[in-house]
Amino acid sequence: MEIYDHPTFRMACQQFDLVADHLQIPHDERDRLKLPKRALTVALPIHRDDGSTQVLFGYRVQHFLTLGPTKGGLRFHPDVQLGEVAALAMWMSWKCALTGLPYGGAKGGVACDPTTMSKTELERLTRRYTQEMIPFIGPQVDVMAPDLGTNEQVMAWMMDTYSVHAGHTVPSIVTGKPVGLGGSLGRREATGRGVAYLVNRATDTIGLDIGKSTAVVQGYGNVGSIAALSLARYGAKVIAVSDVRGGIYNENGLDLFALERHVASRRTVLGFPEAQPISNEQLLLLPCDILVPAALERQITQANAGQIKCRILAEAANGPTTPEADAILNQRPEVFVIPDVLCNAGGVIVSYFEWVQDLQSFFWGETEIVDKLFRLLETAFTQVLAASRKQKISMRLAALSLGVKRVQEAKRIRGLFP
Ligand code: GLU
Repeated sequence: MEIYDHPTFRMACQQFDLVADHLQIPHDERDRLKLPKRALTVALPIHRDDGSTQVLFGYRVQHFLTLGPTKGGLRFHPDVQLGEVAALAMWMSWKCALTGLPYGGAKGGVACDPTTMSKTELERLTRRYTQEMIPFIGPQVDVMAPDLGTNEQVMAWMMDTYSVHAGHTVPSIVTGKPVGLGGSLGRREATGRGVAYLVNRATDTIGLDIGKSTAVVQGYGNVGSIAALSLARYGAKVIAVSDVRGGIYNENGLDLFALERHVASRRTVLGFPEAQPISNEQLLLLPCDILVPAALERQITQANAGQIKCRILAEAANGPTTPEADAILNQRPEVFVIPDVLCNAGGVIVSYFEWVQDLQSFFWGETEIVDKLFRLLETAFTQVLAASRKQKISMRLAALSLGVKRVQEAKRIRGLFP
């Protein structure tokens, strides 16, 4: 499948091959499980504010359709490519299967830099992308959500564009919408909150007092910032955070409320008083108890995996650790890894709740949502930990194996048509 060739896709395939070996999946069944079912690439001509026309490229990959609609985020980032999106779609499949959601995985993206675009340009781009995707999406076909570089507003424009086309309001076409449009309470916080819940469970598991722990968070977007705040609520001291421009560090802990005000006005963590600057590379190597990569893929690599100095590696991002880094971490039992497909699953879990609420037009309170979220995460965490201990395998291999196996079983039971 050369069309998907990309370092992140190769990484997702490498991980899959390890899982397939572990589960002893027959070789002739592997491609059927691994390769995305379908993909759409679209050229998106848009008017820029200066009157010029620009064509951007958009993608959507749906990994497998066996269990219901596909589900996954839409990202706006300059480096987006088809192969990256395909890898992210594959991870969404294992994530949804691991947590028991009735979805296949999907992911979409547009190669653009949203930080240099005006709000009206973003709106035109989003509406054009949605318009081009109409034959490919639907509440029972494929449901998008926010990811890197997209947010509630982008979801609102998508829902509006789709609804205008349908001739009636269709809230269930996207999740992560504003609450006033049929979004779910607790969706925006769900991923970060879930990360902190699982970190707390991991501290119990390894006998670490979270009230005396220190945390470092790479990436201060929706996921990283909420994860930092939620970890602080559990009693952890957040000593360093970063965004795309660099990081800030204070060994005595950062005042997260003051930081929130700083980021709201400056749009970056840089320049925050009472902290020293630190690069993103140095930040990953800081001695701490909890390290949370919450930014891009492939951050923990062969080059730094031997040097990270945390007790818990909580993968809030998708694919932050390469398979080569994994091989090193597997030799470091002092580092407890909460793998991405488990660690960041809170987002898609509450997306599922949002979709269910939209379909039934009956909405739940926030307490109910948080309670249901923690129950699903608890079940998944317990199952992954049990499999890891029983089979003496890494938490990642355990998590991915549980996900892949469920997909394999679903495909086997439905059979191959005709
Ligand atoms: N983009 C998020 C993820 O990677 C959420 C996906 C969703 O809610 O559908 O898990």
